[in-house]
Amino acid sequence: SYRKGGYHAVRVGDQFNGGRYVAQRKLGWGQFSTVWLAYDTTSSSYVALKIQKSAAQFAQAALHEIELLSAIAKGDPSNSKCIVRLIDHFKHAGPNGQHLCMVLEFLGDSLLRLIKYNRYKGMELNKVREICRCILIGLDYLHRELGIIHSDLKPENILLFNTIDPSKDPIRSGHSPIIEKPEGNPNGGVTMNIIEKKLKRRARRAVAKISERRASMGGQAPKSEKTMDGIDVRCKVVDFGNACWADKQFMDEIQTRQYRAPEVILQSGYSFSVDMWSFACTAFELATGDMLFAPKDGQGFSEDEDHLALMMELLGKIPRKVAIGGARSKDLFDRHGDLKRIRRLKYWSLDKLLIEKYRFSESEAREFAEFLCPVLDFAPEKRPSAQQCLQHPWINASSSGQSASKKEATVEKVNVGMSKLQLKVGK
Ligand code: ATP
Ligand code: MG
Ligand code: MG
Repeated sequence: SYRKGGYHAVRVGDQFNGGRYVAQRKLGWGQFSTVWLAYDTTSSSYVALKIQKSAAQFAQAALHEIELLSAIAKGDPSNSKCIVRLIDHFKHAGPNGQHLCMVLEFLGDSLLRLIKYNRYKGMELNKVREICRCILIGLDYLHRELGIIHSDLKPENILLFNTIDPSKDPIRSGHSPIIEKPEGNPNGGVTMNIIEKKLKRRARRAVAKISERRASMGGQAPKSEKTMDGIDVRCKVVDFGNACWADKQFMDEIQTRQYRAPEVILQSGYSFSVDMWSFACTAFELATGDMLFAPKDGQGFSEDEDHLALMMELLGKIPRKVAIGGARSKDLFDRHGDLKRIRRLKYWSLDKLLIEKYRFSESEAREFAEFLCPVLDFAPEKRPSAQQCLQHPWINASSSGQSASKKEATVEKVNVGMSKLQLKVGK
């Protein structure tokens, strides 16, 4: 992809926007861009530099992303709404063409990485709660104040705040930011690859050590890990490349497969509540380490059909009205609202799943399921909004297993707009 119209090749020490930003190391990449840690010589701080591929369709997408991110920054002057901040943007000419660049606040690891580092075991519920609260604050802001649908919410697109100052980064301990090209190192990229490999090896070793220690303690988490529990986990929503204004939708097929809402599969039109569906899938994944729905195609049925079957096995039969209401309904459902090609479903309710497969206590499972199930309503208009979720007892419980039921009465009073169904559905 490092060719005309594609990515811009960056070397450590490369300067951008008239020398203001200096590339330090690669942070990540996606289908549209590479993202670099850069030093901002004007503000003397670190930023994330997202360098878009140069072909026209990528430039178009970047302009759209910049438009949305500008509106997001403008509406949140105190930068407290849990959405990544756009600091600057400019064009950069390189051998592969003109690249639109976004300067974003520098954030840390994605939740996907966090899940991986937890060895897909699921996170402590109080942390899940903290993260959910951040995501909901972000979604509430996008939906209610701006009218933006994110359309690609998933663990990969939620980044933690940085707890490590990059100048104290283990690979650069004692080093100040690079503001010139490193001497005798014509190809920074290669060096970086070696460093990245080293870091990965180190991370693997650390993970192995932790599991060894766990095993030696009879499966219990070591003490030093427990002290992490007090940390206020904060995060921000990123990647607005697929986001849209709710009143200017331009795509039928949105969202990453596993986080896709049923109305998107059925093509019955969508709104803000698609983000709520993805939010619920993300919350489940944080708490268990497993994706809520991981559909696969098979003999005689498509991935879409498997996906809908998995949803029904967990959430009950899709209401007939919802099933037959989309442009694709006729391909997938018969006139009774049953799937045409997958006839036998094995029902397993969310709270039972949490108890039997993930070993949640009964109260933890019930409370978490009571929070998630309404958000996973097949009827999009019945799903609670981000604002309503922020009022939910589960989100406001201080520690798991106690305060949820106590708080219920108060919440019901405060939030008159929220139906009984949304508060109580646990089925
Ligand atoms: P996609 O294919 O997911 O649409 P993209 O090209 O639009 O990718 P992003 O998802 O915005 O790019 O960013 C790619 C990766 O770069 C992220 O997954 C993350 O690892 C890293 N990254 C992005 N923004 C930041 C940031 N503000 N701070 C730190 N790292 C970031
Ligand atoms: Mg992304
Ligand atoms: Mg993107």
